[in-house]
Amino acid sequence: MNTTKYIFVTGGVTSSLGKGIISASLAKLLQARGYTVTIQKLDPYINVDPGTLNPYEHGECYVTNDGAETDLDLGHYERFLNTPTSQENNVTTGRIYQSVIEKERRGDYLGKTVQVIPHITDEIKNSIRLVGKKYNYNIVITEIGGTVGDIESLPYIESVRQLKWDLGPSNCLVIHLTLVPYLPTSGELKTKPTQHSVKMLQEAGIQPDVLVLRTQKKLSDDIRNKVALFCNVQISSVIESIDASTIYEVPLLMQDEKLDETVLHKLNLPANQKPDLGPWKEFLKRLKSPKETVRIGLVGKYVELHDAYKSISESFTHAGAANECKVELEYIHSEQINEKNTVEKLGYLDGMLVAPGFGSRGIEGKIITAKYAREHNIPFLGICLGMQCAVVEFARNVLGFAKANSTEMNRRTPYPVIDLMEEQKGITAKGGTMRLGAYPCRIDKNSRIYQAYKTELVNERHRHRYEFNNKYLKDFEAAGMKAVGINPDTNLVEIMEIPEHRWFVGVQFHPEYRSTVLQPHPVFVDFIKAAMGLARKKQKTIKQKEIKETEKNLN
Ligand code: GLN
Repeated sequence: MNTTKYIFVTGGVTSSLGKGIISASLAKLLQARGYTVTIQKLDPYINVDPGTLNPYEHGECYVTNDGAETDLDLGHYERFLNTPTSQENNVTTGRIYQSVIEKERRGDYLGKTVQVIPHITDEIKNSIRLVGKKYNYNIVITEIGGTVGDIESLPYIESVRQLKWDLGPSNCLVIHLTLVPYLPTSGELKTKPTQHSVKMLQEAGIQPDVLVLRTQKKLSDDIRNKVALFCNVQISSVIESIDASTIYEVPLLMQDEKLDETVLHKLNLPANQKPDLGPWKEFLKRLKSPKETVRIGLVGKYVELHDAYKSISESFTHAGAANECKVELEYIHSEQINEKNTVEKLGYLDGMLVAPGFGSRGIEGKIITAKYAREHNIPFLGICLGMQCAVVEFARNVLGFAKANSTEMNRRTPYPVIDLMEEQKGITAKGGTMRLGAYPCRIDKNSRIYQAYKTELVNERHRHRYEFNNKYLKDFEAAGMKAVGINPDTNLVEIMEIPEHRWFVGVQFHPEYRSTVLQPHPVFVDFIKAAMGLARKKQKTIKQKEIKETEKNLN
């Protein structure tokens, strides 16, 4: 097959319906039938990328191997498909305009008036076709961010309309995702919002080929017929997407609804190869029947919005399933932790993760968490800023370096144990200027973390400006905190660990960006294993206490 086929996914009625999960689930099913698939996200905002956004805006910023700062949906794509994405997989209005304006300045438009149609739409169409062409995928699924009817997504919708003509009917199709709300007072599912949103698409010149309806309750044949009739689609193209207990079940639900078959049929592609979902189902089985439970605290400053830590929470889901263990994730606000309430806030946990972040808000709570975990022998994983906090804590309380800090928090600290990287000095612009993307890390064979990785060279993704200050490495190692992962090219410290501790690891990179359903990240898997060890020990102590109590009462 040499022509790439295109699927566009639009959303109607409301945001947050899960376009990313539906796109990823369809992609998974097509991949399981032997097709090469990728997913692209078009975001209608004017930021060039989400790297400069506060996580409260759209959740976490996901980072690809090639160092693109992207929308968190790309994380879902990678976790479902187990294949890396890159810069081309996420395009924003800002990036489109930036490119068009650069061309205008160069004189590429030869004196023409530069307009939304055709110049912006051409740029959008090119960026859609580029993904397919560059990597030669069989199928590209392009998810249009926002909701149909938004002013800012109009150029994208118009581009889809044009592409439908450019590509021809069996080479592309549009899937529209909407909501069928349930009204408890009348006990009914309502199709009117779907009808309206499809009408809006039709007004823009697009007839959707498939409708995916998000719903709390099963859709009756009557409802399906009504939607098909009013929205001008075949009954087999009305797909139910009922609420699921986990996002990882959605591919199977979509398979039951024959979404993949419908799509392949419309694209004129053979659907004879049965999808191979064996390993996926095995993962789901383990996820749903855990034998043990651990409680992990995720200490961060954006905890009000769980999407801010999406890749971390998903990594725990993967690592839990790998260990047949349920991970109860407790989101703990670092600003609410102080020296006096550690027992209440942290004492019951089997493991703690101190999250990545920027700036000084909530930093002392993170440092106190690292101290509590270190002193009480509780499994600890510090990621990026979390690792830096563990280093600061160790400097202050073990090495006796009073007021030690990262220069990000205190430029005049007497002990800058975390300092700005050399290549960052002199950089003032914020967008896309951090140390980003995959870098190699050599692992010390005599370390705890080697037991997790079982390999000496790994590539992990980065997003930071500050680093461990090697000037102090000797002091740290002499006192029991060791650098066990080093970048072989630059000597930057990548992993710190305390060998004497049950499991105390700080990583300068972001392991969470690489964890997938089929390849749970070894650092998370090993961390959960250590937490399970502690949980078992605690249970044993409780049992022994109970036995002693009973014996005492009997005597
Ligand atoms: N603010 C820290 C730095 O820039 C940590 C970044 C992060 O946690 N991603 O180095």
